[in-house]
Amino acid sequence: MFNPSRLRLARLRLGYTLTKLAEVSGVSPRTLTDYENGHRPPTSDTLVKLADALSVPVAFLERESIEPVAAGAASFRKLSKASARRRDAVLAKASLALEFFETIEDRFRLPTPDIPTLDKLAPDQASELVRHRWNLGDRPISNMVHLLEAKGVRVASLNHAYDDVDAFCFYRDGVPYIFLNTDKTGERQRFDAAHELGHLVLHSELEMDPSTSKEREAEANAFASSFLMPKTAVESQQMRAASVERVLVARSYWKVSAMAMTHRLHELDLLTDWQYRSVCITLSDRGFRRAEPGGIVPETSQLLRKVMFGARARITATEAAGSLNLSPAEVREYVRHLVPVSA
Ligand SMILES: [Zn+2]
Repeated sequence: MFNPSRLRLARLRLGYTLTKLAEVSGVSPRTLTDYENGHRPPTSDTLVKLADALSVPVAFLERESIEPVAAGAASFRKLSKASARRRDAVLAKASLALEFFETIEDRFRLPTPDIPTLDKLAPDQASELVRHRWNLGDRPISNMVHLLEAKGVRVASLNHAYDDVDAFCFYRDGVPYIFLNTDKTGERQRFDAAHELGHLVLHSELEMDPSTSKEREAEANAFASSFLMPKTAVESQQMRAASVERVLVARSYWKVSAMAMTHRLHELDLLTDWQYRSVCITLSDRGFRRAEPGGIVPETSQLLRKVMFGARARITATEAAGSLNLSPAEVREYVRHLVPVSA
């Protein structure tokens, strides 16, 4: 049985408008609208055409419905029309990635979520409480992805082709999901992961209205900064009026970008405005605004590696693709850079 919602999902995931799909498939936009609204089903010939145009097997368009991830479920900045279409493409992929995690959970027991909701607290207080609850003390977080996975967060990779759509997170049936842009430097991915954790802790109860995204983004950044570089520990490291070299040593210790480290020192009044600006200029001259010279290797997933490469039970990308009616290449996108290139 043809499923209208599957047609829409398959189209959105490619970032196609109805007009674009009409061009590619040779089916008129009006007819496509009829199909997507469930007014009538396509003939079997047309169904084959649509499946081809969307690079899915016919069986994909006949699967049961899944509840799409709504734009309001995640915190996004206000976006232009073109960016909004890319956001919708990423959200459609996220919906499919949820199905991927469902197939995993049919066979594996994944950690139970343990993310506190602290929406009444200031970001720095919330981050200290989370550190306390998770027994992290004042130490650097050795691996953000492993930590999140151990606390029940499902971490996946988002479509790397869209660099104007950033990392995002949402809850589905009580389970938190974080999608990371795995094309960034290791330091920036860690900061994104901590930023998304901030949203989960501070904003899970909120309606994610784009018009209030500025405050939410600032709060999530403050949470991330404080979570990765806790106040008391940084203050005990003799960082007052730190030189660029000293900043670079500290960023390696905390595994954050040199810019994030500098920003934190300024925030904690360990650098004056003048010192802050001067360190930023030197770092920028040395290429630290766009990249992270001498930086860390990006983090990878422990959970997905076990699930997809385990010695005994495992689900390969090819197997998962088979049960989702997708191509293995498409499934590999959900875990891109988080696991080794897989069979
Ligand atoms: Zn955010």
